[in-house]
Amino acid sequence: MVGMSDDLTAALGPATAKPLTAAFGLQTVGDLLRHYPRRYAERGQLTPIGGLTIGEHVTVLAEVRKTNSRAMQRRKGTIQHVVISDGRSQLDLTFFNQRGLANRLPPGRQALFAGQVSTYRGTRQLLHPDFTLIDDDGDSGMVGDFTRPLIPVYPATKDVSSWTLQKCVRMVFDQLDGPDEDDDPLPAHLRREHTLPGLAVALRGIHRPDTHAEHVRARSRLKWDEALAVQVTLAQRRHAILQRPAPACPARPGGIADAFDARLPFVLTAGQREVGKQLAAELAAEHPMNRLLQGEVGSGKTVVALRAMLQTIDSGRQAALLAPTEVLAAQHARSLRDLLGDLGRAGELGAADQATAITLLTGSLGAKARKQALLDAASGAAGIVVGTHALIQDRVGFADLGLVVVDEQHRFGVEQRDALRARGAGGATPHVLVMTATPIPRTIAMTVFGDLEVSSLRELPHGRSPIATSVVPMGEKPAWLDRAWRRITEEVAEGRQAFVVCPRIGDAEEEGDGEERRPPMAVLDVASQLADGPLHDVRLGVLHGRLPADEKDTVMRAFTACELDVLVATTVIEVGVDVPNATVMAILDADRFGISQLHQLRGRVGRGAHPGLCLLVTEVPPGSPSRARLDAVAATTDGFALATVDLELRREGDVLGAAQSGRRSGLKLLSLLADGDLIARARTEAQRLVDADPQLDRSPALAALVAALLDDDRAEFLAKA
Ligand code: ADP
Ligand code: MG
Repeated sequence: MVGMSDDLTAALGPATAKPLTAAFGLQTVGDLLRHYPRRYAERGQLTPIGGLTIGEHVTVLAEVRKTNSRAMQRRKGTIQHVVISDGRSQLDLTFFNQRGLANRLPPGRQALFAGQVSTYRGTRQLLHPDFTLIDDDGDSGMVGDFTRPLIPVYPATKDVSSWTLQKCVRMVFDQLDGPDEDDDPLPAHLRREHTLPGLAVALRGIHRPDTHAEHVRARSRLKWDEALAVQVTLAQRRHAILQRPAPACPARPGGIADAFDARLPFVLTAGQREVGKQLAAELAAEHPMNRLLQGEVGSGKTVVALRAMLQTIDSGRQAALLAPTEVLAAQHARSLRDLLGDLGRAGELGAADQATAITLLTGSLGAKARKQALLDAASGAAGIVVGTHALIQDRVGFADLGLVVVDEQHRFGVEQRDALRARGAGGATPHVLVMTATPIPRTIAMTVFGDLEVSSLRELPHGRSPIATSVVPMGEKPAWLDRAWRRITEEVAEGRQAFVVCPRIGDAEEEGDGEERRPPMAVLDVASQLADGPLHDVRLGVLHGRLPADEKDTVMRAFTACELDVLVATTVIEVGVDVPNATVMAILDADRFGISQLHQLRGRVGRGAHPGLCLLVTEVPPGSPSRARLDAVAATTDGFALATVDLELRREGDVLGAAQSGRRSGLKLLSLLADGDLIARARTEAQRLVDADPQLDRSPALAALVAALLDDDRAEFLAKA
C-alpha cells in the first residue's frame, strides 16, 4: 500500500516514475493524483478534429477510414498513410516503416491517437502519432481500461502519453491507502456547508468518473483546494503584516491637514471623503495600513493621498510618494507644491506656519542636489519625499517614515511592496497606500493584490467633460487622418493643446525586432513630418524616455504652461500627466497598445472644462482581434468594463504568467475569469481560518497544501501584475 506523500517510485517503480518526474515534475503519489485530466473522451463519441490548431499536442478519439502503404521514392522503406475521421472532418496520419500497421488499424477501428498537429502540403496531419486501440471489449491488453465510459485525456508530452498517465494513475489507485479524513485539506465544516465531496472521492471522481456529473462535482471540490490555498497564503500575509508595529499617525486638529482642507479650491466628492475617513482611521492605528486605492483616471486620487500624507506630517512623521517614472515623479512633486501653495514651502520666505517641505529625489539628480535631497529625507526637513523606484532600491534613509504612497501600482510587485515596508524607523512598518488608475477586476484584486485591502473611487469630480473616442482606420479611410490633423489645428486655434502618441522613439539606439510588419510609428519621424506638414503652424514639443531628465522636465513644464501646443510623445505620458487644457489625443498605430494602456493614455485629455477627443489611428482591418480591442476602447470609457474585456481577450494565462503554463503548478483548475464567486468565498473562509489559527497548526493537511503552492510558484504567481 502507498500513501499520498510516498514517492512515486514506491508505487510505480523507477523506470515508470522517472519519465513522469522529468516531464511534469511529479514526485509523489499526491503529485500524480493532482495531475488532473484536461478533458474526457466518451466511448463511442469521437473527438471533433475540425478545429485542431497547428502545433498543438492533441489526443483524439477517432475512427480509421482508410490505410495505404507505398514505397518511399528516394529512400528504402515504406510510408504509411492513414486517414482518420470524427464522422465530419478527416485528419491524415503519416507513419514510416510500420509494418503490419494496416492490420492493426483496419477501417472502422476506433483508437486514441496522440501527436502534434502539423501541416503537409496544406493539409493537417499527425506525423508518427502514438496510438492505442479501443477494442470492442474495451481493452487493448497493454494499457487497458477503455471499458470505462469516460476516458480521461491528460496533459501529455511526446514522451509521456495520455494513456501512460492513465495507466499510472490506475496503478496508484490500486495500491492507494487513503487519503483519509486527516489528509483532507478542506475543513469538514466547509465541505458540509458547500456540499463538497471528500478528497478521496474527489480524486477518484476526477480521474475515473463514470458520469460527467461525477467529474464536474470532483472538479468543483478540487478547485476549492486551489482557491483556499491561495487565499490562505494571502490571509497569512495580511496577518503577518498586521502583527508588526506601525508608526501611529493620529490626526491633529489645527495642523497642516486642517489648514489644507480649509483652502481646498473644490468640494471633495462623497467618495473622496469616505475613503479619506477610512485612511485617517487606519493611519491612526498602531498596525500598518495596507490599502489599494483604485479609481478611474481623473477621479482625484492625488488629493486623497495628499490628505493622508498631511495627517502623517501632523503626527511628526514623513511621507514618501513613489511614481513609476521620473516624468511622473517630477509632475507629482510639482502638483503637490501647487496644491499646497505656501503650506509646502517650509524653510522658504513666506511659508505658512504649519508648512512642510517637498523634496524630489530621482536617479538623475546631480551629485550636489542628490546629497541635499538625501539630507532632507534623513533629517526630516522634508515632510514629503517624492521619487521613483530608485527610492526603494537605494538605501535612502528617513528620519521617521510614517506613510508610503505608491502611485500606479500595476508596475509594482509584492516584493517591492515588502521592500518599502522595511523602511520604518525603529523596526516599525510604515503604512502603505497604493493607487492605481487601472481598474482591477475583482478576482485579480483578490489574488494578485490579495495582500491589500481595496477601496475604490467610482465617481469623477463634477464638471468633468466626456471623452469621445473614435477609431481612425487608415486602411479604409485614409482621408480621416488629414481630418484628425485639421481637428488638432482647430483645437490649438481655440487655445487648447493636444498629444500625439507613437509606440516608438525612432532614435539610433533602437533595434528592429526582426518583425516582418512595418515598424511602428516613431516619435522623432512623426514629429518632423508634422512640423513640415499638417502641423507646421503649431508649437510642437517632443517627449520620450531617452531624453535627459532635465530636458524631459523642461518640455513637460513648457507644455503645462501652454508654451507648447502639441506634444509628440511615447507612452511616458501614459500615467498621471495632468494638463487640463489638453483636449485631443491622437494615438498612432493604436493597435500596438493594450486595452488598459489605451485607456490610461486617453485619460490624459478631457481633464478640464472642455470635452476631450481621442483618435485611435490604425491600419489593422476591421474584424481582426486587434481591431476588436480598439473598438472596445472606443465603445466605453468605463474602466472596469474595459478591464474585464482585457482579461477576456488576453486570456488569464498572460495575467498569471507561468503559473498557468502546463508545468507543475499550484493552480490547475482555478480560473480567474470564471471562478470569481468561488474565490470570494474562499477568501472569506481563509480569513476566518487564519484569524483563528494563523499558522494552521490545527490543519496540517491544509498547511501542507499551502506550502506546496508556495514552493511551486509563489514568486511568479503572487508577483505578477
Ligand atoms: P487621478 O485619480 O487620475 O490621479 P487627480 O488626482 O490627478 O486624478 O485629479 C485630477 C484633477 O481633478 C486634478 O486637477 C485635481 O486637482 C482635480 N480634482 C480632484 N478632486 C476634485 C474635486 N473633488 N472636485 C474638482 N476637482 C477635483
Ligand atoms: Mg494620478
